[in-house]
Amino acid sequence: MPPVTKPGYEKYDVVFIGGGSGGVAGSRRAASYGARVALIEATEKLGGTCVNVGCVPKKIMWHAADIAEKIRHGAGYHFEGPGIGNPQFNWATFKPQRDAYIRRLNGIYDNNVAKEGVELHHGNARLISRDTVQVIRPDGSKYELKTDKVVIATGGRPTTPSDEDIPGASLGINSDGFFDLEEQPKRVAVVGAGYIAVELAGVFHTLGSEVHMLIRGETVLRTFDPALGEVLTNWMEHTGINFHKGRKVVKAEGARGQGITVHTDKGEKIEVDVLLWAIGRHANTEGLGLQELGVELDKKGDVVVNEWQESGAPGIYALGDVCGKALLTPVAIAAGRRLSNRLYGGEQYKEDKLSYENIPTVVFSHPPIGTVGLTEPEARKKYGDENIKIYKSSFRALYYSMIPEEHKEPSMYKLICAGPEERVVGVHIIGLGSDEVMQGFGVAVKMGATKKDLDDTVAIHPTSGEELVTLR
Ligand code: FAD
Ligand code: NDP
Repeated sequence: MPPVTKPGYEKYDVVFIGGGSGGVAGSRRAASYGARVALIEATEKLGGTCVNVGCVPKKIMWHAADIAEKIRHGAGYHFEGPGIGNPQFNWATFKPQRDAYIRRLNGIYDNNVAKEGVELHHGNARLISRDTVQVIRPDGSKYELKTDKVVIATGGRPTTPSDEDIPGASLGINSDGFFDLEEQPKRVAVVGAGYIAVELAGVFHTLGSEVHMLIRGETVLRTFDPALGEVLTNWMEHTGINFHKGRKVVKAEGARGQGITVHTDKGEKIEVDVLLWAIGRHANTEGLGLQELGVELDKKGDVVVNEWQESGAPGIYALGDVCGKALLTPVAIAAGRRLSNRLYGGEQYKEDKLSYENIPTVVFSHPPIGTVGLTEPEARKKYGDENIKIYKSSFRALYYSMIPEEHKEPSMYKLICAGPEERVVGVHIIGLGSDEVMQGFGVAVKMGATKKDLDDTVAIHPTSGEELVTLR
């Protein structure tokens, strides 16, 4: 169903702004209860960051990289043939296939929204007053929707330094640009040390590009448990990623497509084909008319909401990345669904809200990371050194037993327990399969599992996950 071009109702119960993870989930859930719902999306594609330039195409690229690794490992398992040990990835032919899959997903999103009875509008939304949202269509024409409530779910966009701050910064691309690359670059500089930097650097490197990581600190993932950052940084270096630690980019010169020279504050000049900024994200709040209506933004520009996703302005809610907290798709989805449950789902949901505690998350690095709960420094601060017990194991997954030493990825599993009952307050794991192992342990932590609960669980053998129930 194409988007409508004028309002179908005189007044809506709720207008969702932003057709990404949070807006789509929340609007569908509200409509499922019979509410009159409009969803406004600025682009032609539903699904937002996750579907178009985030989780989904990223994970597909991670799978491609994973296959490249497996092909390299094939000889260890006595697979023979010219390709074994030497994967040749064709980025140029793969990208259109990946794009086609994303287009199919966009279509599925369109259908799902229509099936649920959500009225889809295509244009840029702006609040005129607390009960009036303006839709500015791509052709410049405008119309207004009257509504009881508004939900801001406009997500965010990559942060890129300005040319005033770093001359030549605009020669670089960001994660959105990564998904536009038609060819695999031979040499890449990745600036940043968070999720996106390590994930995209890992994909480039594993698929055969020369990769330079420029980081401000000594390790990647500094906001994670320190053991994870250490193990991953060491392994990335071991595999041949060129780390430039404690560095800032001061200048970039050249031309896109013809080579870029990246200058650091330590005087290095790094020659690359692509410079990729992965230094965080910014909320999309500009031009929405929020502050004029009493919606508070913090210093970074994120919308400030309470535990019920309510902004300071009555009837205006916000959720997902635009609130700047736990920028993850399932968080936006859960917040959207629970808000709609509470607003339209009747008595049984009148207290429904998303708890932001103990959100499990995975970094699709090589090897992958899974984490939930407090880091060791956070736990020590919260409970005191004397009330914390750490269990840790470093090992190699059985898979690597047949593979030459230099390709054996490390695994490191760490449990953080607090108090005399040794409640598990943090689980931090890196190594083969950590991405899939994590979800179940997320449930355990959410349920308040103790070390004894884990010990009382019979191991599944032979797996990596069993390490977490046999730690001593
Ligand atoms: P978005 O999905 O960003 O949707 C916001 C929508 O609002 C967009 O479609 C935008 O066009 C629209 N919009 C903005 N302004 C307006 C306006 N004025 N009017 C109308 N529409 C507007 N999360 C995970 O959980 N797992 C992952 O593996 C993962 N990988 C990621 C990889 C990358 C490279 C990136 C960038 C992100 C990744 N994320 C991942 C994060 C995840 O994509 C986001 O947390 C999620 O998309 C947030 O959903 P949202 O609904 O808040 O915002
Ligand atoms: P992050 O906030 O994760 O990391 C950005 C990092 O870049 C910072 O931690 C910082 O590390 C570094 N940095 C910040 N400013 C600068 C600067 N000026 N120069 C150099 N380095 C800088 O942001 P990302 O962009 O990586 O990702 C955004 C969010 O998207 C993530 O937080 C995550 O929530 C979500 N996401 C989730 C994924 C998943 O679930 N697998 C995958 C991708 C994204 P330092 O302080 O060490 O320099």
